[in-house]
Amino acid sequence: GTLLQDGVAVVTGGASGIGRAICERFALAGARAVVVADRQAEPREGGASTVELVRQAGAEAVFVETDVRDPAQAERAVAAADDFGGIDVLVTAAGIARRGSTLEVSEADYDAVMDVNAKGTFFAAQAAVRRMRGTGSGSLVLISSTGGIKGNSDIAVYTMSKGAVRLLAYSLAAEFGADGVRVNALHPGLTETEMTRTDLGRVDTGSVSQSRIPLGRTGQPGDIADAAVFLASPMSAFVHGSSLVVDGGSTWA
Ligand code: NAD
Repeated sequence: GTLLQDGVAVVTGGASGIGRAICERFALAGARAVVVADRQAEPREGGASTVELVRQAGAEAVFVETDVRDPAQAERAVAAADDFGGIDVLVTAAGIARRGSTLEVSEADYDAVMDVNAKGTFFAAQAAVRRMRGTGSGSLVLISSTGGIKGNSDIAVYTMSKGAVRLLAYSLAAEFGADGVRVNALHPGLTETEMTRTDLGRVDTGSVSQSRIPLGRTGQPGDIADAAVFLASPMSAFVHGSSLVVDGGSTWA
């Protein structure tokens, strides 16, 4: 593919799940290089590492051990793209989820989710925009959630953090569009990854989830990755400050 025109992408949370699928599909769509920024190199779901997948798909790849909660580490991950000519695309897929009654949430639970999902996204975006402004182009794809649009019981802090990501996308779009930096939010619905299988114990591909999803199935990481390719590529040249919902129709059903 040539959709991504030899671009260089940095993907936080790129080791596993949705971020891993995005890295692979960016390579298949013609990216020159992908920086996999994650706190671990191995996919949570097992199988080949993202670096291996990207190389098999024909692009260069490097893993940068990154805890996005630390702005200096986020900066280092973005800077790693300089070795390939500089960052063109940032995807912020690093995220965590905890489920439980709002009445049982501790301060540590609150901080854990907000630090990765909100703070981690903010400082990765800041580092990317600093570089993209200088070149006059770039695309940021901030991974929110359908939970960043509508409420959900037993996952309040997560939905807060993802609502923050959505508003960050709109604010960055307002501030940096004139510099040629496009920014959009991508909102996956229930997608089959270790987050939903293990952390939330929520993937039920049987009747319950299907009855809530008009297209009749849960999402696969590749479904989200295809939408990310669109937002990263010139196909979306006039899409800016928007929310792309990829959920099989569940949010507004
Ligand atoms: P996942 O757990 O499979 O992958 C998340 C990745 O983020 C992991 O590789 C993990 O190591 C990494 N990560 C976590 N904390 C980090 C940190 N502090 N620094 C760097 N990396 C860190 O989950 P996923 O389902 O692929 O989720 C990817 C993104 O999509 C998340 O932001 C999640 O909130 C969002 N999302 C997922 C779903 C879903 O149904 N799976 C739905 C909506 C939104």
